[in-house]
Formats: sequence, C-alpha cells, structure tokens
Amino acid sequence: MVRSRSCFLDFLEFCADAAHLTSFPLSVDDYRVIGNDYHIGEWIFSGPPLTGQTWEDNSYVELLADRGFSNTILEVAREFRRCVPAYLEKCVSELLEEDPIAIGFTTSFCQTIPSLAVASRVKAENPDITIVFGGANCERPMGNALFEAFECIDVVVQGEAELTGPRVFSDIARGEPVTAQRGVLARKFKGSPGSFSDDAVTAEVFATAPLPNYSEYFSRLARGTQIDFLRESIHLPIETARGCWWGEKSHCTFCGLNGATMFFRSKPPERVEQEFVSLAKRHHVRRFAAVDNILDPKYLTTLFPRLRDSDIDWYLFFEVKSNLTKPQLQMMYDAGVRELQPGIESLSTPILKLMRKGANSIQNIRFLKWCMELGIRATWNLIYGFPGEDPREYQRMAELIPLLTHLQPPSSTSILSLERFSPYYQEPRKHGVRILGPADFYKYAYSHTARLDDIAYAFRFEYADGREPAEYVSNLCGVVSRWHSDFFVGGGAHSLSYLRGPGYIEIIDQRPSLKKREIVLEGYEAAVYEICDRGEGIRTICARLREAAWLGFSPQEEEIRRSLEEMVSNQIMYKEGDRYLSLAVAQQVSNRPG
Ligand code: SF4
Repeated sequence: MVRSRSCFLDFLEFCADAAHLTSFPLSVDDYRVIGNDYHIGEWIFSGPPLTGQTWEDNSYVELLADRGFSNTILEVAREFRRCVPAYLEKCVSELLEEDPIAIGFTTSFCQTIPSLAVASRVKAENPDITIVFGGANCERPMGNALFEAFECIDVVVQGEAELTGPRVFSDIARGEPVTAQRGVLARKFKGSPGSFSDDAVTAEVFATAPLPNYSEYFSRLARGTQIDFLRESIHLPIETARGCWWGEKSHCTFCGLNGATMFFRSKPPERVEQEFVSLAKRHHVRRFAAVDNILDPKYLTTLFPRLRDSDIDWYLFFEVKSNLTKPQLQMMYDAGVRELQPGIESLSTPILKLMRKGANSIQNIRFLKWCMELGIRATWNLIYGFPGEDPREYQRMAELIPLLTHLQPPSSTSILSLERFSPYYQEPRKHGVRILGPADFYKYAYSHTARLDDIAYAFRFEYADGREPAEYVSNLCGVVSRWHSDFFVGGGAHSLSYLRGPGYIEIIDQRPSLKKREIVLEGYEAAVYEICDRGEGIRTICARLREAAWLGFSPQEEEIRRSLEEMVSNQIMYKEGDRYLSLAVAQQVSNRPG
C-alpha cells in the first residue's frame, strides 16, 4: 500500500501551534514568504547532523540582512528555524510508526534540505527503510551529486518517473535490488547499470498518467485546526501539458525550467475535461491551477469550448504566452479561466528580443488591457539585468508606466536569476556573462563535502561588460512600486476606460499620476481609437476606415496620422515604431460579473 503525506501542512500546523517555541504566532502568510524567498525554506532545515551548522547559527540571515531584507522576514525565518528540530523529531517518529518499507521524497524548489533532514534521521533510526529521491531537484547532475553526497539516499529517480518509478518501487516491495534502467541511480543494482541519463516520457505515456490522488491532503486539511481557512483558497494542481512548445523553437535565454523535458506534450482535451470533472466530484473543488509551463494552443478550440459548455462554474489558472488574441481570451474567460500568468517579463521590445521571448511590448500591454476588460487576473513579473540590455530602455519604461497604472502591475520586480539548464548557463560566454559559482545560499545550507557546483540550480554571475543593473533600474523600481501600492493599497480610483455613444466615445481617465479628465472622441477619431484595440499600423487603420465608408468618414492619411499623434501626446494611445495601441479599457465589458 502507498500512502502520501503532506508534510508541508504538518509543519505549518506544528509551527502555528508551537507558541512555546516561538516569540510570536506564525501564519500562512509567513509560511508563504519563507517558502518563496531566497531559499529561506531550505535554510531553516539546515542543521546537525546533516550539515556542520548548529541550529543557533543564523549567519545566512545575517547575510540576507546585509542584502537589505526586511527585519520582519528575517525574524519570521528565525522563528520557523526554532521550530524545526522539534518538528523533525515528531515527523520522523510518525513516519517510523507506519513501519514503511520505503519512503519516497519528491523535491522541487525549496524541498531538498527539508527532505534530507527527514531522510537522514529515518535512515539513522532504521537503515532497512529504502530512501528514494526524485523530482526536479534531482534532474541530471543535481541528482548525481545528491546521491554522492548523502548516503542516506538509496535510490534517485531522475527526470520523469511515470515508467521508472513504479519499477523501482516494485523491486523494493519484493525485497530485491533495483533493476538497472535509464534515469535511476541506486546503491545496489540488479543487472549491470548502463547509461543513467534521464529521459522524457512519450506523449502517450504522459497522456495516460494516473489522476493525482489528493485524498490524504484533504483529510489532513480536515483534521487541521490552524490551517482551517486554507480550504477557502484551494486551487488543485493539475497537469495538462508538459515541456514547452515555444522553448523547442526558441529557448528563452533565462529559462531553466526544462532540463530533459523541453519536448512538448499535452493530454487529449477529453481526458483533461474528464480529470477536471473527476477531481471536482471527488473533492468538491472547482478551482484548478494548471502546473504546465505553457498552454497548449490547441485547447483554445478543443478543451475550452467543452469546458464552456459544461455548465460548471470553473475557476481556472493557466500559464500562457502573451500573444493570445482577444477572442481567444474571451473563450478562456467563458470556459472559466479567471487567472493567467503570461510570460511578460519586460515592457521593452528590444529587451524581449534579447531574451528570445517572441513577443513585443504592444502584445504585452494589450494582453494586460484585455485581461482587465474581461475580468481575468494577470499575474506577471518584471525582470531586469539581461546581458546586453540598453539601460535607456529602463528610463523609457519608467516614463511609460504612469500611462499603464489602470492595468495589473507586476507581482515582483527582480534581477535576472541565472538558472541551470538556461541558455545563459549553457553558453555564458556567448551571452556575455561569467558564472562565479553556486548562489550564496548553498554554502550556508549544505555540508562542505557536497559538490555544490552540481547540486545548485541557481548561480552567482557577473556581466562580461562589467555592468551593474542596480545603477540604472532604481527609477523604474520606484515607479513600479508606486503602481503596485496605488493599484492594491491606495484605495483611490485607478482606471482608464471608455464608453461608446452614438458616433462618439467618452474616455474617462482616472489614472493616479495623471490629471483626472474626460475626453470625447467623435466621428472617425472614435473609430480610429477602437480600431487600435489590437495595436495597428497606419495602413491597416486607413484600410479599416475605408471598409467602414458607410459611416461617412473619408479622412486623409495625414489627417489620421495627426490625430493619432495627438492621442499619443494625450497619453491615451501607446506608440511603438509605426504601430498604435489604444490604452483605455472598454467599460461595458469590464462590468461583466466575475
Ligand atoms: S520562459 Fe516559458 S516560454 Fe520561455 S522557454 Fe521557458 S517555459 Fe518556455
């Protein structure tokens, strides 16, 4: 029998209850902070006997303090760390009580050190229990180095484990050594070990992977007292596609998401719909978050019409490219998509080109505008520090942002992180970076004997041309931070919208850093403004006006150009190259409930 265990819920509950161990109550929000930021979630579990550090050693927090981290975050990190030794004792004793033959740890993001902390204690108590590691942090050299450095690990399953994992656990259950197969490292093998490189599974294997079983998670939640309110915000993870079809054509220079798994596969739409329905029935949850790197565009004409017609009030999240059209976004909305994460990363076309993103600033801005119109929350990040970027682009973005403050701001603004498997990592010299070694965190969290160059996923680096992005982004960071607080905290109006009248449109401008006003555009100017909804060049604008000749407009190209330039200087139109994008959100659509 296989049992899963949501240790993260146990740990959260334990910390929230452990008033005797901490100076103040720890909350879910505190937990999110330490789980997301700078490997703090790993560091808090790094102590004896796994590493040379004592539990009282706070040198990593001191390093973060030097880097400007807020005292609140650092104090929260220390409080969580205080809870860890007692929690580990409890966790290990509960695991041993179940008398397992083997324990499998899946590790991605900040889960390696916590997994090692539990695994090493289990092994010390009962060496007969087989410890198996897998997950994204075991991919390629990272898995090999963990296997070498930590004797408590008996088996590492590298890469996608739909085929390899069940064979490993069958062997263990029969009390036999592990069968040698690609993607598996083991202390004892049956047969002769061959090549251990990890493989992506075929589209057929992926499409028929078993439905995730969340029963233990929900029964754990039901038993909780401190985590009760988590139930209100559950988005069940679901995988509809794996790999990245865009990365297969043009690997974004900063992206390390796919080592062996860039090859894009997606499940048949009827299978995805069936998974949504089965999980919703089983757990009474209609909110799902697709863990895919990128949406399969085929779903726009296959899966989403099915979901739209299902008469179920879905609440869905997907990651997408920002080049979706308005009808495509409308279809997603109608199917129940309420949150999207577009890979925006920048509002500068030259910088987007540098990162091979296959998008431009007009596409990114109109995506945010259309999401605002439709009532879809767009979650995106702004990244700076791409090698070769022109510092003047940051001043240009800082000047552009006051025009965009009616749209969703980025969730974070951060410097480029250099990740294993990314083109920057694979060909640093070609891209103008020098890799200096693993990110600082690793030496604070691991023992000195571990091969950190191979274990690390994030790396320190410098630019070959000696640039210091902090010197040219501070203005932009300040502007974005104001955008964020005006949008989420300010409480004041922050909109730029328009209403249609007979032969005119009325634009109501309430953007925070601009003058409050109403602008009426009449006749062909109103038509031009609406034509520019997608971002159009002057030729298309003229052609579309000619098509609408029945409206009685016949302006000359020069007249239209003058009018467009006036809208640009009035800050209601964005211009890039010879293309114009209207910025106001159509209000009648934005009033849609949802
Ligand atoms: S950043 Fe997104 S689109 Fe680009 S390669 Fe990575 S997963 Fe694909």
